[in-house]
Amino acid sequence: MENCIFCKIVRGEIPANIVYESESVLAFDDVNPMAPVHVVVVPKAHVATLMDVSDKDMMNDMISAVQEVAKIKGIDKRGFRTVINCNEDGGQVVFHLHVHIMGGRKLSDDMG
Ligand code: AMP
Ligand code: ZN
Repeated sequence: MENCIFCKIVRGEIPANIVYESESVLAFDDVNPMAPVHVVVVPKAHVATLMDVSDKDMMNDMISAVQEVAKIKGIDKRGFRTVINCNEDGGQVVFHLHVHIMGGRKLSDDMG
């Protein structure tokens, strides 16, 4: 998608601190971290929201990427939180599917 910010990161048009990359998935540090570790995992192909996912193989790749990122960031043992915001009530701001990975401290129980 031409003007999608995460597509621009995938195409290398906007800088990002890349944490992990596979054929179908990219992971990079969130620019506005909510925790000591805050990474977003995105499919390289543009998919707007979780409700638009049809390629379940791609979601498998996303889960594998989450596991790899957790190991790379050293939060795999102590744990972390994953979040996928979907549409307005879910608080989605960037309409390119992404999984947030947050960790590096004990997170609050408040799910908003
Ligand atoms: P959401 O509210 O789930 O759509 O979250 C979007 C996330 O993308 C927010 O946590 C932003 O801080 C993050 N974000 C926006 N622009 C960038 C960028 N250029 N590089 C990295 N993260 C970004
Ligand atoms: Zn996109």
